Amino acid sequence: MKNLAIIGGGASGMISAIFAAYTNPQLNITVYERMDRVGKKLLATGNGRCNYTNLNTCTANYYGRFPKFTRHALFSFTVDDTVNFFNRLGVFPKEEENGKLYPYSGQASAVLDALRNELSRLGINTVRSDIASVARTKKGFKLTGKDEEVYYGDRMIIAAGGCASPALGSDGSGFKLLKSLGHHITDLRPALVQLKTPTDEVKSLQGIKIEGTLTLMSKDKVLGSDSGEILFADYGISGPPVFQLSTIAARHSGLTAAIDFMAEYSLRQVYDILESRKQHLSHLTMESYFTGLLNKRLGNIIARRAGIEKLSFKVSDLNKELLWKMAALIKDLRLEVLGTKGFANAQVTAGGVYTEEVSPYTMESRLCPGLYCAGEIYDIFGDCGGYNLQWAWSSGALAGKNAAMD
Ligand SMILES: Cc1cc2nc3c(=O)[nH]c(=O)nc-3n(C[C@H](O)[C@H](O)[C@H](O)COP(=O)(O)OP(=O)(O)OC[C@H]3O[C@@H](n4cnc5c(N)ncnc54)[C@H](O)[C@@H]3O)c2cc1C
Repeated sequence: MKNLAIIGGGASGMISAIFAAYTNPQLNITVYERMDRVGKKLLATGNGRCNYTNLNTCTANYYGRFPKFTRHALFSFTVDDTVNFFNRLGVFPKEEENGKLYPYSGQASAVLDALRNELSRLGINTVRSDIASVARTKKGFKLTGKDEEVYYGDRMIIAAGGCASPALGSDGSGFKLLKSLGHHITDLRPALVQLKTPTDEVKSLQGIKIEGTLTLMSKDKVLGSDSGEILFADYGISGPPVFQLSTIAARHSGLTAAIDFMAEYSLRQVYDILESRKQHLSHLTMESYFTGLLNKRLGNIIARRAGIEKLSFKVSDLNKELLWKMAALIKDLRLEVLGTKGFANAQVTAGGVYTEEVSPYTMESRLCPGLYCAGEIYDIFGDCGGYNLQWAWSSGALAGKNAAMD
């Protein structure tokens, strides 16, 4: 075996090339990337800071039809291996909340530079080509670019990502390539993405970030809950808890979002707070009643939903029923979930190549010997917080090692 062809110069493609070179230094390795440079998506990760792994990584952080498919890869290239690998290439880790690791310099470009320098040190070729078709021939794999240029590889790794954020390179074309080699692809949905809700009310909150606990429900069944800053936008809601729970929206429809804006207080305590404010602020109108407790625009929505039409309503006229209604709304403001903001805005793809069709121990196709897959192209995606890149590193390192073995 002389040539290894890798389709996709993202996180998983670059690391698979590097581990293939470590395993078999004689191998001629080429990374084919459709964008003008490798690793464009990496620069956008972690808000430009690249949350490149998470110290708490385990299989429970992953989703798909068979999340346990991740187990061997995560065990064979662990979070410690990731930290040591990048440290050796110059990326010093900085731990932040919930085990998230970033480069100490705070720049995503540090991770990309480290990988590019290592590709170059190892003599790995990168070729700009948008691979339009692949075929298995007697000479190995034949790759044809959109420009009809033809390339060959004795073995091939497809690390072309999913459909999320196509502007950064991954346009779903990897799935078509895999299908042409006999693989099957599950339903594909955007995940780690903003949620759309009716806009009449949230529009008035546009641009505001409010701490809260977000719960997603199907009818009255709670499917998940997460706390943090919720960002209101003209289309609906965003922010860390929304991204986290959007993994649920990737799997269910007909959802309702319930937001608790005073999660550290019980309903009774919120009622008592509202009641005592009524006493202290009885000289005011509803225009000022929530000032200092809730964001003013949120307060207006709470009052309106409780049935108070005009902000000129006197605080002294608040009765028990209105106070209970407002307390209940502060603890449980419901918004219908109309869908997600789609692949254009998603960080990852839910769904991908059926994991049963690939060996979890080698990442080699069970249907097409000599073909390997790595990264987001699998029917695997992770929680928000560095887990998706860890999957790219673990699956990529394992695919690269195995694809390079004689
Ligand atoms: C805005 C944003 C922020 C994110 N932040 C984080 C974060 O902080 N932490 C985290 O863990 N995850 C984060 N993610 C998710 C993470 O970036 C991805 O899961 C990960 O990059 C997937 O790596 P990959 O190599 O499998 O795919 P990709 O990174 O998508 O790489 C695939 C590459 O293949 C190329 N390609 C595709 N088709 C072809 C073809 N036919 N021919 C040639 N080349 C092709 C693409 O151009 C692309 O460069 C974020 C994602 C986005 C969009």
